[in-house]
Amino acid sequence: TSWHQTLRSSARIRRHNGISVLVTGAAGFIGSHVSIALKNRGDGVVGLDNFDQYYSPSLKKTRRDLLHLHGVFIVDGDINDHRLLTLLFSTVEFTHVMHLAAQVGVQYAVENPYAYVRSNIASLVTLLEQCKLADPQPAIVWASSGSVYGTQNKTPFSEMDRVDPPTTIYASTKKTGEEITHTYNRLYGLSITGLRFFTVYGPWGRPDMAYFSFTKRILQGKPITVYRGKNHVDLARDFIYIDDIVKGCVASLDTSGKSIGSGGLKNGSAPYRIFNLGNGSPVSVPALVTILEENLKMKVMKDVVDMCGNGDDSFAYVNISLAERELGYKPTTDLQTGLREFVKWYLWYYGKPCVQDRNV
Ligand code: NAD
Repeated sequence: TSWHQTLRSSARIRRHNGISVLVTGAAGFIGSHVSIALKNRGDGVVGLDNFDQYYSPSLKKTRRDLLHLHGVFIVDGDINDHRLLTLLFSTVEFTHVMHLAAQVGVQYAVENPYAYVRSNIASLVTLLEQCKLADPQPAIVWASSGSVYGTQNKTPFSEMDRVDPPTTIYASTKKTGEEITHTYNRLYGLSITGLRFFTVYGPWGRPDMAYFSFTKRILQGKPITVYRGKNHVDLARDFIYIDDIVKGCVASLDTSGKSIGSGGLKNGSAPYRIFNLGNGSPVSVPALVTILEENLKMKVMKDVVDMCGNGDDSFAYVNISLAERELGYKPTTDLQTGLREFVKWYLWYYGKPCVQDRNV
């Protein structure tokens, strides 16, 4: 394996500031932003991604080029590849693992449930086993999801809320991940931070997400379908801009070795923490569409459809006070500004002649 030789001799992985991070899912939306932010501040960063085919391989490859430009070392491989992971951990002494790889999406699980078991549960165990055996053990920060809250009557959601059984396979693999990481924390003293991201959006985002596909359809002059929840109420989401999420991830990493105050969920000697990372306020989907229309200076036809049991939850917003207190997390980008940045990026990216898959 040639990457192994290169990695071994690479000065880029040597820590400048005592931190070396394995970022899984580095070619993904959040992973690419986080990898670049860590690299830019001087951390040693190794990215791992299997470049799965769930959405636009070409977008992932372009993100990889961007990572190369920033000097992030990327390994093209699967977390479930036990041999590869052993080689990685024996080559680099990671102080932290930022585990962002996952099989994402909600609808895809209807036909492909095993993809979620494989990439969200089995691979998590493979990774935790490596961390357990490493000496010293790296601190783990990983992406859970706001979807673990499911359909609850009480909003905003708080970390200490009792959580009902999930309503999607995706959410159920994330909730299982929380249980598994908690068990590893108790049994083996691994430092664990689980981040419940809400709806993350921004440049280099995911084509399967609504704000992205709405933008594409508005520009194509095609109508969009806007779903409504129970009792014909508009769906609402807690939209959070990528730069704010990156700050939350970095702050989680920087505090991950330390035990936290009485407000947190602490067990045993190493910390086990869960944080909501969202914006803290709901925005309805029609309001999101209006902001996109304003930015694109175009109007769109909306088909409004009542949602009937497709497994999504109608109203989600979150209490972020624990992250504010413990991480100094404070979102600063409002939806108007964030979507303006996204639209600017979209027009630039898909306007380039070299971009092949316009129909992501
Ligand atoms: P993404 O799909 O863009 O990134 C995930 C990356 O992981 C992809 O590049 C994929 O190729 C890679 N991957 C998947 N399985 C892998 C495996 N077995 N081995 C190696 N690489 C693998 O998704 P994202 O939006 O960047 O999400 C990052 C994390 O945040 C995920 O864990 C996701 O569940 C979580 N999350 C995201 C959001 C959001 O709004 N984007 C919300 C809640 C939680």
